[in-house]
Amino acid sequence: MSEIKSALAGRHAVVTGGGRGIGAAIARALAGQGARITLMGRSAATLEQEAGLLRELTEVHCVTVDVADAESVSAAFASAVAALGPVAILINNAGQAASAPFMRTDPALWNQMLAVNLTGTYLGIRAALPGMLEQGWGRIVNIASTASLKGYAYVTAYCAAKHAVLGLTRALALELAKKPVTVNAVCPGYTETDIVRDTLANIQAKTGRSAAEATAELVKHNPQGRLVQPEEVASAVLWLCQPESAAVTGQAISVSGGETM
Ligand code: NAP
Repeated sequence: MSEIKSALAGRHAVVTGGGRGIGAAIARALAGQGARITLMGRSAATLEQEAGLLRELTEVHCVTVDVADAESVSAAFASAVAALGPVAILINNAGQAASAPFMRTDPALWNQMLAVNLTGTYLGIRAALPGMLEQGWGRIVNIASTASLKGYAYVTAYCAAKHAVLGLTRALALELAKKPVTVNAVCPGYTETDIVRDTLANIQAKTGRSAAEATAELVKHNPQGRLVQPEEVASAVLWLCQPESAAVTGQAISVSGGETM
């Protein structure tokens, strides 16, 4: 039987927030195709734990970063390029979702949501794009959200930041349309990770509802009546990274059981 060679084999992929949740699922999918992986996140221990699994499949580099901090992002990408060469695939996945009623969304919370979710995406692209243009190939996938496409109550700052990530995606896709680099957003609905586990705990604490009632409150948004799995988000990302997806740019791919269409 002849060996199937993946088009992504050997490509250097950076996954921010790659140590757990959706980012870890994406890193596993890319590693499964032979891409070499840099995992970035805040916790070195979390990154190393995930890297231990991936090293059975590919070369892996770990580097800590605060995506909201320009100097930290510069240093992290310098380390990634020194270890595995220019970045070909950038997955801007690191994110946070704090909830609060609008009048309790103070400037600190507002700025934090914009800094991590929006500025972090901007800084990652600024660091990786020159190398993509030099090597003549690149894929940028921003993990946005259904909160990029519709509003949800009590998360104004998160929704504003995620809507802005989509604006950045669309504008940059047009700017780069004649170059061999695509820019897309993947928009998950409620997905079973720590963010959702925290949201469920929050609903239970604030409303006195049971775990089942709190889960029902979230899944009622999804016409399929369930939480999305991280691997389902990773599958959409992997498709966007394939050479055959070169004509897909500036898109928002909703992975949400039909919640947005
Ligand atoms: P998660 O399990 O809480 O993971 C968040 C990841 O982001 C972690 O790896 C974390 O790193 C990293 N991170 C957070 N702040 C960071 C910072 N300042 N600098 C560097 N890394 C940082 O959440 P998730 O559900 O996988 O979310 C991943 C992405 O999907 C986020 O952008 C989120 O908005 C988006 N999303 C999630 C859902 C959902 O329902 N789960 C729905 C729509 C969109 P550490 O491990 O080091 O803390």
